[in-house]
This record gives sequence, C-alpha cells and structure tokens, in this order.
Amino acid sequence: MAEDNKFDIAIIGGGPAGLSAALTGRIRNKNIAVFEHLDFSEKLQKAHKVDNYLGLPEVSGKGLMQHFTGHALAHGPKLVKEKVMNVFPGDNMFTLLTPQTTYEAKAVIFATGVVSTLLFEGERELLGRGVSYCATCDGRMFDGKDVAVISYTEEGENETVFLSELCRNVYFLPQYKGDFARMRAPIKVLSAKPKAIVGDGQVEKLVTDKEEIKLHGVFIMRQSDPVENLLPGLELDGEVIKVNRDMSTSIPGVFAAGDCTGKPWQIAKATGEGLVAVLSAITYIDKVDLA
Ligand SMILES: Cc1cc2nc3c(=O)[nH]c(=O)nc-3n(C[C@H](O)[C@H](O)[C@H](O)COP(=O)(O)OP(=O)(O)OC[C@H]3O[C@@H](n4cnc5c(N)ncnc54)[C@H](O)[C@@H]3O)c2cc1C
Repeated sequence: MAEDNKFDIAIIGGGPAGLSAALTGRIRNKNIAVFEHLDFSEKLQKAHKVDNYLGLPEVSGKGLMQHFTGHALAHGPKLVKEKVMNVFPGDNMFTLLTPQTTYEAKAVIFATGVVSTLLFEGERELLGRGVSYCATCDGRMFDGKDVAVISYTEEGENETVFLSELCRNVYFLPQYKGDFARMRAPIKVLSAKPKAIVGDGQVEKLVTDKEEIKLHGVFIMRQSDPVENLLPGLELDGEVIKVNRDMSTSIPGVFAAGDCTGKPWQIAKATGEGLVAVLSAITYIDKVDLA
C-alpha cells in the first residue's frame, strides 16, 4: 500500500467532533486523515443560528463550520473526500474501505454523527440482501434489474445516474427539495415517502405511502449510515456507540466522539469528545508503537 494511504489515526466524519480531533491530533504531530464524504456537517450548516457555543454568540451553523474547517484544515490533516464503507481490524492496524480504494490506520475515531431518520421496516433484516448504502460498491449486482434509491443527500443523485447506466428501472425517491431535471429515463422520480422494504430473504418490493413497487434492490443514501454496518461487532448502547470515559469503545484502537456516542446532541459535547478521543488514540498508538 502506498505510504500516503497510511495514517496514525483515521477520523471518520468532518463535523465538529471529527475536526476537533483532527486539530489536536495535528498539534500533537500525528499523521491524521479526516474522511468526509459530503460537505462538513451539512446538518449543522442548516442551523440558522447557534446561540450556545461559548465565545461565538449568534453565529450561524454555516459560519461556525467555516471557523471549524478553516482552523482544523490549516494544521494539515489529510482530507479524504470519500465515504468509509467498512473498517476491518487487523494486526495493530485497521483497514478502511471506501468505494474508491483502501487506507490503513493504527487507530480509528468514529465521528459519524447520528442516523437522522428511523430505519425503514425491513431495512436491517435485508441489508446485504438487496438493501445497500453504496451504489458504487454494489450497483453491478443489479445489472438489468429494477432498483430504488431513497436519498436524503444530493450525493444520491450521482449514484442514481450511475445505476441508470446498469439497471432496467431506477426509481428515485428524493427526501428533500431539489431540481431533478437531469434525472432521465430509465430513472423515474417519485414524490413519495418510503414505508417498508419487503422480501423473504431477498428484497422483493418497496412500500411507499402511494404504492408498492416490485424491485430487486433498494439503495439508501443518508448523511450517516448505521454504525454497526461500518464495523460489525462494535458494541452499541441502543442505537449509539458504547464508549468509556476516555472515548474508547469495545474494540481496542477504536474510539468514538460526538453525536454517534449519544445525547445530548450538541456541538460543545462533540468538540470536547473529539479532543478526548484523539488524546486517547495517541496514548493507544504510542503503546502499540512501543510493543
Ligand atoms: C437544524 C439543527 C440545528 C442545531 N442547532 C444546534 C445548536 O444551536 N447548538 C448545538 O450545540 N447543537 C445544535 N445542533 C446539533 C449539532 O449540529 C450536532 O450536535 C453536531 O453537529 C454533532 O457533531 P458531530 O461531529 O458529532 O456529527 P455531525 O455534525 O453529524 O458530522 C458527522 C459528519 O460525518 C460525515 N460522515 C458520516 N458517515 C461518514 C462516512 N461513513 N464516511 C465519511 N464521512 C462520514 C457526515 O457527512 C458529517 O459531515 C443542531 C442540529 C441541527 C440539525
């Protein structure tokens, strides 16, 4: 693997938690990668006004994220604009898989935020059996077949266009307002709310508030995916990652910070936990390096 794909610490997520971790990690002179597949915390950027972040009264969410990115990126972490799909633990090293390539890191910090919508009925059971979170990774399995894309982010539009080059019918269900003029046949844009994904061991249909669609695959594009899908075996506390006071998780070398560790979903908690997580990760890798 090329040396520039190897890091001391890989941080998944470029929101307040991830950027806080990246800043201190770089100040401590570690080789840090920040993986961010969308804009930096699109969620927070929608906040008209943030009034409870100490020292910056009445800042907008967008303005605050500009301060955070400007500050953290000036310290030179490597920014990787790719989505981490899987993390595989190895021998004192983790492999991170994106749709494009693989990376390695001695420690990993999850700063992925929360899944902002409830999972659909049938989604968890049919994951890997027709339900997917990545068209680039899994699209080829649906060559000549019928699929739907349920998208909460504009990123889903590119994935839908890619699928339209492979599939017979592509139903695009955007869950946000936008201009979908570039979505041409075989893409059908549906203004509908998904309700359930149904199938006996394999996806057979998508149920919406308007109709039932027979199909073979359903791609779901959210800002953040369920974490248990990223790293199977990571211990959860309900829907969030179970952490200790030093932000370590059930897997040695894996740390977590921010909304993905639970409430309160607040910026100050996210930045504080990002700091603790990276300091703990540094202590961990210093021990691994000595071993
Ligand atoms: C409308 C609104 C208003 C809010 N107002 C306030 C407020 O006034 N005060 C306050 O304290 N809090 C507020 N919040 C909450 C605040 O936005 C969150 O607590 C904070 O953003 C959490 O930071 P985070 O870094 O943990 O997660 P996020 O900000 O959600 O960032 C996670 C990042 O990880 C990226 N990511 C996820 N998965 C992957 C992956 N697999 N690969 C690569 N990248 C990935 C996402 O694209 C995202 O950018 C508000 C939230 C909303 C939605």
